[in-house]
Amino acid sequence: MTSTEAVPAAAQTFTSLNPGTGEVVGTHPIHDAAHVQAVVATARKEAERWQALGFEGRKKALVKWRKVIARRMDELASLMARETGKPQGDALLETALAIDHLAWAASHAEKVLKRRSVSPGLLMVNQAASVEYRPLGVVGVIGPWNYPVFTPMGSIAYALAAGNTVVFKPSEYTPGVGVWLADTFREAVGRPVFQVVTGYGETGAALTTAGVDKVAFTGSTATGKRVMAACAETLTPVVIEAGGKDALIVADDADLDEAAEATLWGAAANAGQTCAGVERVYVHDRVYDEFLDKLVAEARKLKAEPGGQVGPITMPSQVDIIRRHIDDALARGGRALVGGPVPEGARFVQPTVLVDVPEDSAAIQEETFGPTVTVTRVRDMDEAIERANGTRYALGSTVFSKDQGMAIAERLRAGMTAINGVISFAGIPTLPFGGVGDSGFGRIHGPDGLREFTYPHAIARQRFKPAIALTTFRRTAKEEQQLTKVVRGLYGRGRK
Ligand code: NAD
Repeated sequence: MTSTEAVPAAAQTFTSLNPGTGEVVGTHPIHDAAHVQAVVATARKEAERWQALGFEGRKKALVKWRKVIARRMDELASLMARETGKPQGDALLETALAIDHLAWAASHAEKVLKRRSVSPGLLMVNQAASVEYRPLGVVGVIGPWNYPVFTPMGSIAYALAAGNTVVFKPSEYTPGVGVWLADTFREAVGRPVFQVVTGYGETGAALTTAGVDKVAFTGSTATGKRVMAACAETLTPVVIEAGGKDALIVADDADLDEAAEATLWGAAANAGQTCAGVERVYVHDRVYDEFLDKLVAEARKLKAEPGGQVGPITMPSQVDIIRRHIDDALARGGRALVGGPVPEGARFVQPTVLVDVPEDSAAIQEETFGPTVTVTRVRDMDEAIERANGTRYALGSTVFSKDQGMAIAERLRAGMTAINGVISFAGIPTLPFGGVGDSGFGRIHGPDGLREFTYPHAIARQRFKPAIALTTFRRTAKEEQQLTKVVRGLYGRGRK
């Protein structure tokens, strides 16, 4: 059975375009609410069977899928490169990381989620206590275009491994990649455990109200709020992986070559369209000039151009936001040491290094999502930390320092911190990924990412009758006095 056999066909279609060339990459159906509901109904029917397979059976199925993706990763990467405009090498790296996460989720679900004994505590010592994490049922995944494989895979792989079926709505800019993932799953597993629906925001909205048991949303903060509001109607839980305004801190003992290189890659890789990309840098006064010289020298060598290391801006409307942030920074006293104002009609934005930008300007407070970075001098690490923590976003962060890395990292308000590296946390399957504040909540990746798509089921089993019977109307005043004595003995004395 295919994902679309039992459901109405879509009347309308849309196309995905290569943002670098304007060429049509693919044509896909615009799925309406009736279609989405039918797909979710299929997923619900399939959920029972998928759950009944158990951890071992699901692992086998996911390993089959993993092998298909790994064997055909060039094909997936080139489709992704055409739909987003990103260089083929970057698309390959993204695919490799997604495969690694799929492998980890499949092989660790049992260990993390299976029933395990926990201590019943002193007052309930007559009980055997245990907890297991059960699948929710059907998970709706709504994805962005910037990392159209890696980002949704952080939800899809973990939700599937945890025993859920999944309906995925990819971004309207990268529908082909979503369809490719669902097609290869069906090829490997032969069941509609993981299905895809395509279309614009309305199709995503339809998924939030189609009766799914959880929505995993990755995209902008503004859309995340709309998704959460829609889900509130039915008390459907949500994971929101939203935008970021990540800071990189350079301490006075940092390796400045490494810090400059990491800043440039963190800011301009994927043309800066990275949720956890580097958008702001705070540099210790003592090394500011030297760091800036190195960054500027490196940045001048990098060009955004067809076939280059920095590709086009995928979404045309994003160019206007990047232009506004640069123009505002320059109008308020900032200077562009590399790059500068973005010409009207441009699809490629040159790497841009901005200095002397006021802290309350858009380029420092709002997500730019382009290959731009602001560099700000700070007198010490206290000031760097205060400024780094000074936006409504809090997704990733980076610290460059030989000796103070951990001390600084521990004071940063962020879901993740990379020390002497950049975005390294995203490639480590055991680490949770997600944000705070306007960057969202909930976690993908790691044990937390598996548990995100489950609900805990607790069992307390009485092993023998308690010495003091508390949960009965037969409880006596004497037993209450005994309880008081025990609690005072346990908790009322001593220093701890
Ligand atoms: P977006 O919010 O425009 O769209 C995201 C998805 O939501 C798309 O599939 C879209 O069709 C769908 N959508 C739109 N309106 C909807 C609605 N009312 N209900 C349900 N779905 C709806 O975001 P985008 O431009 O595709 O992605 C870029 C954003 O994603 C950036 O802000 C970036 O920081 C963020 N992002 C975050 C992470 C993370 O893990 N935190 C990862 C990647 C991207």
